[in-house]
Amino acid sequence: MNRRAFLAGCGAVASLGVFGRGGLASDDPLRIRVWLSDRAAEYDRAGSRACEHLDSALAPVGDGVRVTMAEETVTLPAEGGRQVLARHWPRRVLEGAVGGDVDPTTGVNLLVTDGDPTEQPAGYGRRYVAASTGARYIAEMDLPEEAPGNLRYSVAGVATQLLLHECGHALGLTHAHGRATVSDGRVVASPMVGSYLWRPAEVRRRYLDETNACGDPLPPPTVEGERRLGLRYSPCALGALPS
Ligand SMILES: [Zn+2]
Repeated sequence: MNRRAFLAGCGAVASLGVFGRGGLASDDPLRIRVWLSDRAAEYDRAGSRACEHLDSALAPVGDGVRVTMAEETVTLPAEGGRQVLARHWPRRVLEGAVGGDVDPTTGVNLLVTDGDPTEQPAGYGRRYVAASTGARYIAEMDLPEEAPGNLRYSVAGVATQLLLHECGHALGLTHAHGRATVSDGRVVASPMVGSYLWRPAEVRRRYLDETNACGDPLPPPTVEGERRLGLRYSPCALGALPS
């Protein structure tokens, strides 16, 4: 465990000693703690950009959600792959709750690694714990206020949307809380739908229904238009989050 402190980005100072083990009152805001792997932390802006995009995407929820940065980085056996993202990291969080070297929040523990976000599985997310690859690309992202709500395809855009997608799962959202909109020749997939929208029809069917949880239809697999990556949660997703 690297003891370096991260003061850049959201709320590192606020997290010092305040949200340690010992539980939170149930009416506390839901906390998202962003952890960087040692290698992810080598990109100066990875942590701050991740926090800023999470903060921006979750701003409509108001004070119900709070994003903070972990004080320490996480030493991993590898930066990607199912074994690390879906097994090793959840186990570290679980062990941390009973005294391991990771001090988890009782909210969401979201790990960002230096893995390749174009290789599957690129991320992992289930209630309270998530992992997402692509730190070096997230570090290159514009600030949320300078980035449009939807982006042309880029690996940085994919990695940032993936971060929001996996965090959404950790907050209890499913793919059915996503949506896709078609206007002005653009097809914009929200984070919980992501690039599943453009998978071949038979693959897409495994991940997406024809309508989302709020009854909004998704465009058919044959829809034409420029593919855009949305960085805003859908109203259906925001409505399902704690507030
Ligand atoms: Zn998913």
